[in-house]
Amino acid sequence: MPSRDRVTVSSRAAKRLRDGHVWVYRSDIVSTDGAGPGSVVSVSDERGRFLGTALYSSASQIAVRMFSTQRVNDFCALLRERIQQAIAYREHVVHNTEAYRVIFSEGDFLPGLIVDRYNDVLSMQILTQAMDDESVRETIISELTESMGPVSIAERVDSRVRELEQLAPRSAGLIKGEPASTVFTMNRIRFHYDAIAGQKTGAFLDQRENYVAAAEYAHGEALDVFCYQGGFALHIAEHCSRVTGVDSSRPALEVADRNAALNGREIEWIEANAFDLLRDYADAGRQYDFIVLDPPAFAKSKASLDTALRGYKELNLRALKMLRPGGILVTCSCSYHVSSPDFLQVVAEAARDIHRNLRLLENRTQSRDHPILLGIPETAYLKCVIATA
Ligand code: SAH
Repeated sequence: MPSRDRVTVSSRAAKRLRDGHVWVYRSDIVSTDGAGPGSVVSVSDERGRFLGTALYSSASQIAVRMFSTQRVNDFCALLRERIQQAIAYREHVVHNTEAYRVIFSEGDFLPGLIVDRYNDVLSMQILTQAMDDESVRETIISELTESMGPVSIAERVDSRVRELEQLAPRSAGLIKGEPASTVFTMNRIRFHYDAIAGQKTGAFLDQRENYVAAAEYAHGEALDVFCYQGGFALHIAEHCSRVTGVDSSRPALEVADRNAALNGREIEWIEANAFDLLRDYADAGRQYDFIVLDPPAFAKSKASLDTALRGYKELNLRALKMLRPGGILVTCSCSYHVSSPDFLQVVAEAARDIHRNLRLLENRTQSRDHPILLGIPETAYLKCVIATA
């Protein structure tokens, strides 16, 4: 890969980089000298002072992602080293699971690369031009194979991101070895994983530690809203008299049902729009002891923040109406644009509106295999609040 190319950035971007961030937006690029799609570039400020080595994208709004504050002569050697460090970090902080995130992009100083482990199958996702370079891909696959010895490696594809990065379309599927499916154990619960056939599976690994935390409080009749393939429902089932999972995706519920069978659990799955169902159930006076809310991201951009906050409030309000005294609410938000204080406030407002006093039991975030870098606020996105009414 070429590494002699140079990019000059504005003083505003230079300050941000010196403060520990790693992104430079296109509007902060002063000049590019030879930098092509995905090239490894040397970054300087307008006075020519060297800031570090970065990965360049000719298409993304994030034009530069810093890779090192040093000069890098052998990019692929450093890439291998970073992958080894990411694996070593998990050996210290990840326990009781055969599934976890092995590489979390910027959180592991590997911008544009995500790798998840599901038992003996690795799932890899590439999100930037630099990581999509053929020799870079080969290095990643070879290092993962040598360090982790997976039986197979599958590729997950985000077509929208590939389009934004102007990368050739790719289809998801196996890129090395077989099979594409396996069963993995997480916190003593078993789950199906399938990288290709029929309904693709894959867990919300960022909730892994929150499942354990939630299970500690689980009791009585429980409702898991936005349950997907049953992550929370399966974890709380052994502590509850009855568990109902709700999701609008039938394929997700089919896998949830297979997961329940795998663990010998009886869980009721309901295919429904969660907003409608919560309204109907609340109007009908239904009551629960334990409610989980884990909706998809409502705020995909800063502009949609107000609408998102209203959505979160409405959802929490409906759930709180159905919560018995002494009941537990586990409420989540995976919108990066909704800050933790904003989210707590929305939950507090929902409680206030129906004259309930909520006690905060835990204010949690994503599991430790999704490292949060203090210099990069964007790496912290998941909120999981556990409260009692
Ligand atoms: N709690 C899950 C992850 C939830 S992801 C876990 O721990 O594994 C969000 C889920 O919300 C997805 O499964 C999606 O199908 C579902 N969903 C999105 N919009 C919905 C709606 N309006 N009503 C019900 N479910 C919805």
